[in-house]
Amino acid sequence: MNEVQVHHWVAWGLIAVGAMVFISLFFVVAPYGRHTRDGWGVMIPNRLGWMLMESPAALAFGGIYALGAHALEPVPLALAAMWLTHYAHRAFIYPLRLKATQKKMPLSVPAMAITFNLLNAYVNARWISQLGHYPLSWFRDPRFIVGVVLFAIGMAVNIRSDNILFALRSPGHAGYRIPHGGAYRWVSAPNYLGELIEWGAWAIATWSLAGLSFFLFTAANLLPRAISHHRWYKRTFPDYPAERRAVIPWLL
Ligand code: NDP
Repeated sequence: MNEVQVHHWVAWGLIAVGAMVFISLFFVVAPYGRHTRDGWGVMIPNRLGWMLMESPAALAFGGIYALGAHALEPVPLALAAMWLTHYAHRAFIYPLRLKATQKKMPLSVPAMAITFNLLNAYVNARWISQLGHYPLSWFRDPRFIVGVVLFAIGMAVNIRSDNILFALRSPGHAGYRIPHGGAYRWVSAPNYLGELIEWGAWAIATWSLAGLSFFLFTAANLLPRAISHHRWYKRTFPDYPAERRAVIPWLL
């Protein structure tokens, strides 16, 4: 089997695992954040967990990207900049902004996420810097332009929504309140909505199986979790806004 075939099967493997994750998450909610619970093994500090699980998505992506034959070409560089902007924030800035530093997560959560992030970094970095073909004219292609614009919108929605959540807590406090403002007007998990828009946009900008596999996996992971959050809010707060949906305005 040559590398193109290996790459192809790893991408399809991620889609298949994503389908299993999607079904499983309706029965077992991932045990971190408000859904943390005992019985999942060794616990580690939340902040460390986030850095551990997200840093491979930045570092492994950067390393694998740099080894590709097209690594210094303008379009692959622009695509890599999008990815690395997201993951530099997620792996190294976001964890430092967490307020409830005393909270913990089971080590098994980062362990699973690291495995996924390494495979996903390979699939996407290898595609844009080696196996895919992105000539200069891709800069004028509507798929690239739409992808870049949507990616920026998704990232803005994601970060703004997380900022609203951060503002609900003072340092060291771990309680929950009803978030208001921004896209919380419409949904309970606009940070997840922003994340979904970002990776949908990435799939469009790269127009690749690699990008599609990541978008599908993200949806498989975040849609059930958004529904769990939404149900939790409704159970926890009797005055929770009735018109608010889980993650897709007016629909879901
Ligand atoms: P959550 O929305 O569950 O939590 C985000 C942060 O806000 C946490 O620190 C949480 O604290 C706090 N928080 C949440 N709700 C409230 C509230 N009502 N009142 C006060 N504080 C609150 O997001 P996740 O932790 O699941 O995800 C964090 C980020 O990572 C998001 O931007 C998400 O999009 C992204 N992500 C991406 C994934 C992907 O597949 N690409 C997968 C998972 C996450 P606490 O931890 O104590 O609950």
